[in-house]
Amino acid sequence: MKYDYLIVGSGLFGSVFAHEAMKCGKRCLIIDKRSHVGGNVYCENKDGINIHMYGAHIFHTNNRKIWDYIKTFADFNQYVNSPLANYRGELYNLPFNMNTFHQMWGCRTPSEARTIIDGQKRQYGSCVPQNLEEQAISLVGEDIYKKLIKGYTEKQWHKDCTELPAFIIRRLPVRYRYDNNYFNDRYQGIPIGGYNKIIGRLTLGADIEINADFNKNRDFYRNTAIKIVYTGPVDEYFDYTLGELEYRGLRFETQYMEMENYQGVAVMNFTDRKIPYTRVIEHKHFEFGTQPVTYVTYEYPCNYKRGQDAYYPINDGKNQKLYNEYKMLTIKEDNVLFGGRLAEYKYYNMDQVINSALKISENELGRIDGE
Ligand code: UDP
Repeated sequence: MKYDYLIVGSGLFGSVFAHEAMKCGKRCLIIDKRSHVGGNVYCENKDGINIHMYGAHIFHTNNRKIWDYIKTFADFNQYVNSPLANYRGELYNLPFNMNTFHQMWGCRTPSEARTIIDGQKRQYGSCVPQNLEEQAISLVGEDIYKKLIKGYTEKQWHKDCTELPAFIIRRLPVRYRYDNNYFNDRYQGIPIGGYNKIIGRLTLGADIEINADFNKNRDFYRNTAIKIVYTGPVDEYFDYTLGELEYRGLRFETQYMEMENYQGVAVMNFTDRKIPYTRVIEHKHFEFGTQPVTYVTYEYPCNYKRGQDAYYPINDGKNQKLYNEYKMLTIKEDNVLFGGRLAEYKYYNMDQVINSALKISENELGRIDGE
């Protein structure tokens, strides 16, 4: 065998694992079925603007260890994500905070906002929310739920809010302060020089094959390395023998515009159900770009079919149960490690993916430097 590890998928999980393995002197082959490395953090530079080809990626974490780790591969700028929600032309600040409450109801103080929300959530006041709708109304009341959450969520997930798990909406802070920072995390920013630079540094020293589909050439690839690190969809690895897990897909349409500034903000969410896209991203604002032109990407949620790019695991009861059955199979699989958003079927943020990759590498390779 030529390699110690075959790493299937060159996103953050695979790249971090490869880096840790190479630090221990292991020989790594990384393969990716796309025509580039980097998974969904991959960017293309056009006119000096880094375009996030697979949706906006804003790095944020509360974990000091992960922040210190990622900063060894790039410096980060001071970008703070402060998206706007556009509901039929009305603009609201996100996440849900005193600015949003003022825009929605004209109230000025936290106690006025609380009184309104308490009045609107009354029906859900005492019970534990059982689904996304109950959770949303109990956090921010009916008006915000109807204008800023219901339409967006149902087009994003293609399910009724009553069928979705409550945790999805708890990703967003609710604040009784005038503060439009979308994240509560202590550390946040965009890597200076782009995400490709991080991936390039993480994978330095590994052999890399692109346009290489593991699931179509398993016999060949199994003979290349002693162990495999698999980061693709877990059900695909097992040939869907237990059934198909559901994922949500995305489609992106990017437009070049001959103007300096199109929407004045990096992320604008369109929360009306009738508008087919969920977000418009103006990439230059992630890096405070001053170029004379701009690029915007419309993000359309779409159904996922086998073999296409899977973006979001749908962690409802039915899918979670099926994933748990696949998880039992992964445990029995000799010489294969499974990790990342698709192999672990978890709605991970980037820092959580890195954390998972470091934990699995540590288990596999022994103690990691600096801990
Ligand atoms: N969400 C919403 N309205 C918004 C933004 C988000 O209802 O304007 C809900 C929606 O259900 C979404 C969830 O909050 O799936 C999580 O949003 P986040 O921005 O974290 O999603 P991601 O960036 O991972 O796509």
